[in-house]
Amino acid sequence: MSTPQSPVSFYGATTHLPHAQENQSREHQRVRAEETKANTARRTCPHCRTDAGYVIPPSLGMCVPCAYPEP
Ligand SMILES: [Zn+2]
Repeated sequence: MSTPQSPVSFYGATTHLPHAQENQSREHQRVRAEETKANTARRTCPHCRTDAGYVIPPSLGMCVPCAYPEP
């Protein structure tokens, strides 16, 4: 005589982490702020000390008006 064994299934144990995304976006925001600060430093011309509005080209080492002054 044998006893029928019913298979045990563990369906329904779905995992979803809604908070993980929230933490990631907050960390992303912090990183973005750091990047903005770093970019501001890279956009500042060391010659005239003004924010050029773009990253100072390393080849020039200064903003374009400083590198090529209008006569
Ligand atoms: Zn300049």
